[in-house]
Amino acid sequence: MTNIVTIDNVEDLRAALFEHRCARESIGFVPTMGFLHDGHASLMRAAAAENDVVVASIFVNPLQFAPDEDLDDYPRDLVGDTALAREAGVHYLFTPVRDLMYPIQPVATTISVGGLSEGLEATTRPTHFAGVATVVTKLFSIVGQCKAYFGEKDFQQLAIIKRMVIDLSLPVDVVGCPIIREPDGLAMSSRNTYLEGADRTAAAVLRRALDAGVAAVDAGERDPQVVMSDMAAVIESEPLASLDYVAAVDAASLEIPSTLAGEIRLLVAAQVGRPRLIDNCGVRI
Ligand code: AMP
Repeated sequence: MTNIVTIDNVEDLRAALFEHRCARESIGFVPTMGFLHDGHASLMRAAAAENDVVVASIFVNPLQFAPDEDLDDYPRDLVGDTALAREAGVHYLFTPVRDLMYPIQPVATTISVGGLSEGLEATTRPTHFAGVATVVTKLFSIVGQCKAYFGEKDFQQLAIIKRMVIDLSLPVDVVGCPIIREPDGLAMSSRNTYLEGADRTAAAVLRRALDAGVAAVDAGERDPQVVMSDMAAVIESEPLASLDYVAAVDAASLEIPSTLAGEIRLLVAAQVGRPRLIDNCGVRI
């Protein structure tokens, strides 16, 4: 197990990382909002396997929450998070407070990534990705040159960050990591803690909807609308779930093609009890 140092200010983190850079050590970085689970740990373990030094951040970013979302209730557990991060090989846990990240409010400078930030999640969360892109740019600017690890769980976010790094020439290699799931197929998420009683069992319907989409493609279906209606039917068969969207998109452009071909991503979003859940999977044709 590594030693872990918790740092809550920019100067100390930059000073520590400067020492490692002088020693020609590589830096892996995992940005999170905390309430860590094995999905986060998988990113940290990947960063530890590929780098000399691992930094993880915990920051519940107000900019990516709409006024009616769960910013104030977002689950927090710094003691548990520190233990998990240490176990997963993190050396530095960066835990800035809101005023440190956004000293002058309201923030005047934001980053928006065109095209990829439209549709899917953005349909119901129109300001979300500008908040994500802005905080990730700030974190990259604080951590500096690194390999940064993101989950495919947030597939649209991953695509946006990869594009942003190219467009802005940021000195960061973005690494996408596979989705870690519970035994019944539910994708791990900090918000799963909101699932109570029967809603927890019902939440596995998202994975079953993706499976139905994959099965349709495997059976030879190439019309995205048919695949999407097969997926939607599975969500609609679960009375405790309320469908937000299903999509079968080109994995690079995130657009629905006229015919399914190449690398396809199937995505689903649904409300199950209190939380709105998202999931996705890849299928190659
Ligand atoms: P969050 O704390 O929700 O902002 O997530 C931080 C990072 O962990 C993001 O890159 C997520 O995509 C990733 N992540 C969250 N859940 C999972 C999961 N179940 N499997 C893999 N990565 C995940």
